[in-house]
Amino acid sequence: MSTSLTQRLIQKIALVYPVAKRWLYKFHGGVFPKYNKSLSLRQPIRPQIIPDRLILPLQQQVGQQAELLVEVGSYVKKNQLIAQSHKDANKALVVPVHAPTSGFIEAIEDYALPHASGLKAMSIVIKPDHKEIAIDNVLKVNGKPPTTPHAIKEILFHAGIVGMGGAGFPSYAKLPKEKGKIHTLMINGAECEPFITCDDLLMQTKAHEIIQGAVMVAEALGADKLLCGIESNKPEAIKAMQVAAAETLVEIHTVQTVYPMGGQKQLIQELTGIEVPYKLHSVDLGLLMMNVATYAAIYDAVTFGNPVTSRLVTVSGLGLNSPFNIQALMGTPFAVLANAAQPKTEINYPLVMGGPMMGFQVQDNQVPVIKTTNCILANPPEPIEMQMPCIRCGECMDACPVNLLPQQMYWYSQSHEFEKVEKLNIADCIECGCCSYVCPSHIPLVQYYRHAKSEIKVMQEEAKAAELGRQRHEFRLARIEREKLERETRLQAKKDAVKKQVDDKLAQAGESSESAVAPSKKPSAAVAAARAAAARRLAKSKSASTTDSDDSDSGVHSAEAPAQEKIPAARRKAIEAAQKASEAAGTEKNPKTAAKNAAMAAAKKRALAKKQATESNTQASNDRANETAEATEQTAAAAEPTKAVDDATQDKRQKAIEAARKSASERQAKKQETN
Ligand code: SF4
Ligand code: SF4
Repeated sequence: MSTSLTQRLIQKIALVYPVAKRWLYKFHGGVFPKYNKSLSLRQPIRPQIIPDRLILPLQQQVGQQAELLVEVGSYVKKNQLIAQSHKDANKALVVPVHAPTSGFIEAIEDYALPHASGLKAMSIVIKPDHKEIAIDNVLKVNGKPPTTPHAIKEILFHAGIVGMGGAGFPSYAKLPKEKGKIHTLMINGAECEPFITCDDLLMQTKAHEIIQGAVMVAEALGADKLLCGIESNKPEAIKAMQVAAAETLVEIHTVQTVYPMGGQKQLIQELTGIEVPYKLHSVDLGLLMMNVATYAAIYDAVTFGNPVTSRLVTVSGLGLNSPFNIQALMGTPFAVLANAAQPKTEINYPLVMGGPMMGFQVQDNQVPVIKTTNCILANPPEPIEMQMPCIRCGECMDACPVNLLPQQMYWYSQSHEFEKVEKLNIADCIECGCCSYVCPSHIPLVQYYRHAKSEIKVMQEEAKAAELGRQRHEFRLARIEREKLERETRLQAKKDAVKKQVDDKLAQAGESSESAVAPSKKPSAAVAAARAAAARRLAKSKSASTTDSDDSDSGVHSAEAPAQEKIPAARRKAIEAAQKASEAAGTEKNPKTAAKNAAMAAAKKRALAKKQATESNTQASNDRANETAEATEQTAAAAEPTKAVDDATQDKRQKAIEAARKSASERQAKKQETN
């Protein structure tokens, strides 16, 4: 990038107003610390040091630890696989471990990790034999560049390559599976942290490997654009990279020297102008960025089949007389390297892994170099500035490269209001330390954010567990309800089946024999008859209760009234008279006729009683009585052909007629009296 007139003008303004330098790059904020990079650049890369013991943690990256493949006492060669990943490596983010040199396995036990937490992890301890017996091309590659994402991912996985800029994310997991998904591949050569110069020296010495490694990845992924960003304070590295990239598609860009230019999102914005949105990864936008050391390791693995067993490390600090860069074997204790740099005083203070801005003090100076160790810093402790209350100056907000509100996040973190801190997007904080660097009150803001992040993580896990519990409870209730419904449905189906079976059997029985069904109807007819009889008895009792005691027989007669009404009145009277006469005579010789006459007499008697009960006080009653008498006479006359009536019978009949007339007259008189 040529220095334009505008840039020169801004740089002059920056002499009196330092913050004017922020106008020279695209992302927000940033700081300009004292870099101290020249300390470790005074001498070339030092020859390799093989320590007495190499400590190799089974987990050296983001993810899970690998499984042991060796045991105590085993002899291993340089590059030999000593810990393998799980089967589902992509999910578990496991990376294999290889022996950095030949020697015997002295121990397999827990050792302190180079981590801010100071936690221990299972580690393999190798006692080198200093013979450097190696396995060549342990990855069994043919030297040809891979042409598919899958092929290059396989090599990266077996070589144990992780992000060597400090992130430690397994590189095979970072690459997409589909070809063409990445359109722009980027090389991160910014190296913005003070004191650290390993990438600078790597670019100066291995520019060809870096460029070729990037070209291999670009071809395998189908990326058609390659961009490399190098800070302007590395002129030799820029020159070497430009030479190496001359015949390739790689574009070398000199970027402004500002911290944290080496941050992935910041350098992407600087190189492409694209700001990666919140909660998105650069890969989602077709952009992929890796560190220069990672590309060099990829080249070594693809071309020579070598796994990652060493890396370039800066050993620097104000406490050292002779800082240097070294291709350190994995597992080399920090103290060994720091002591090799001629400490000014005994190193009885904690060393720092990384730079002064984002690095952390290790709990034990014997922790080993791992794949993410880019710098070992030996800065003697300085008097701690006294923390003062926040004066709300807003400097932290101006310096934040992610455009967060550090002051508010600090405020809520301090009062343990972590929900509010979360809403301020603390997850986007890259812990760059710019806010702490500029704070005039010397508030260790990043420490507050780290604590808040861990608390939020715990809260999220608890919320997740609670949500899981709620879902399980609801599923259980739903299952119980479903099983209940199923039981009821089954029971109903069973009932329906039984009912249908019975109906079918009845239908079959009805079709086969109606006579079998008929008897079943008989009870119904009998019941109906019984009910009719009961109704008649009820009517009879009612009628009896409404008539005089003298007319009690009329109730009996009323039941027979319908039959009587069907017989003509004159004929009925005649019949009754005849029957009565016959009864009185008792001379009927023919038994059949005699029975008939007796029945007729009884009927006549009942009809007569009824007539007497219902006869009105009108003259019509007398007339009817007379008519009855006449009818009796007629009937008697009609009965003459039977020749069963003698003279005595005639007399009796005449007497009966007269008695009837007399009775009618009496009733009439009686009624008239009543009226
Ligand atoms: S820089 Fe420090 S004093 Fe200023 S607002 Fe931020 S936290 Fe407060
Ligand atoms: S540490 Fe976080 S809050 Fe502070 S400046 Fe960096 S990104 Fe912003």
